[in-house]
Amino acid sequence: MNILLVDDTMTMRILMTAILEDFGHQVISCENGEQAIERYLAERPDLILMDVVMPVVDGYQAARKIRALDEDWVPIIFLSTRAEPADVASGIDAGGDDYLTKPVDETILRAKLVAMQRIARMRHRLIEVSRELEHANSVLQRQAEVDGLTGLANRRLLDRHLAKEIARCTRTHSPLSVIMCDIDHFKAFNDHYGHIAGDTCLQKVSNMLTSIISRSNDLASRYGGEEFCIVLPDTNLEGVSHVADRLRERVEQLQIEHAVSGGHVTLSLGTCTSIPDQGCGAEQLLACADKALYEAKQRGRNRVVSFEQKPQD
Ligand code: GH3
Ligand code: MG
Ligand code: MG
Repeated sequence: MNILLVDDTMTMRILMTAILEDFGHQVISCENGEQAIERYLAERPDLILMDVVMPVVDGYQAARKIRALDEDWVPIIFLSTRAEPADVASGIDAGGDDYLTKPVDETILRAKLVAMQRIARMRHRLIEVSRELEHANSVLQRQAEVDGLTGLANRRLLDRHLAKEIARCTRTHSPLSVIMCDIDHFKAFNDHYGHIAGDTCLQKVSNMLTSIISRSNDLASRYGGEEFCIVLPDTNLEGVSHVADRLRERVEQLQIEHAVSGGHVTLSLGTCTSIPDQGCGAEQLLACADKALYEAKQRGRNRVVSFEQKPQD
């Protein structure tokens, strides 16, 4: 260990340094509490051995100051000629972890150092483990909000994001749009080409969605099977219609063969735009976009139908 030795008596410093070095430790020494704080900050020792009675700043004051810095914990052992129970209690109260009386028995000192080193190691391990846990938690949190097949946001993240953006657009009186889209005749695609090909198709369509949806508050999510929901905050009817048209075109351009449905995979889209106010929540927006999607399907698929929700009177 790197040990900071604090004692105002030079012979004591020389004697203790020799013992500690003999135990295999490195020693930094200084002669009062004020220097101890400076050296502690500069050297970050693994342990502090501190005399109690010293000029300028005594051992208790120095320990209190070091603890008050609220830095990483370092074991502090007091070394003192004062051996009353009240002295020991004061030392612990000041932030010390142990208290030895001078002259120090070498065997006891060695044993105490081993014990402190063990505690310090356990504490470091604990800090490491809690960091690892924190990291694992954030990875899990991300995984819990991402769809495994497509890498898009899942329903959970969609719900959270939509609620947040509705609240924001309510405050700023900005329009917010959502797009519900659904691959046309996808059941027939699966039946004809198999589920693996179906999954690949979903991935291709998802990648395309992600490449088009680019603003920082936009979110593309997998709503269910072959349905996707896209949130476009600060986007009016004209804007969302433009984006939806592009998405429709780009799916066609992917030229994914679909022999049972007009040659290629196509997408139907329903959009809903609203300036959210207290009366319009996520559910209404999604239901409205879903209605528009239903209408797009009814009108022959591979098309966009756009609705607008006016504020309620
Ligand atoms: P429509 O044009 O009216 O939307 O018809 P559709 O066949 O696309 O719609 P339907 O809801 O009848 O069928 C959806 C199909 O999507 C059912 C299922 O085979 C397929 N599907 C849903 N989730 C997945 C998935 O994760 N992987 C694959 N491969 N297929 C899926
Ligand atoms: Mg479908
Ligand atoms: Mg569907």
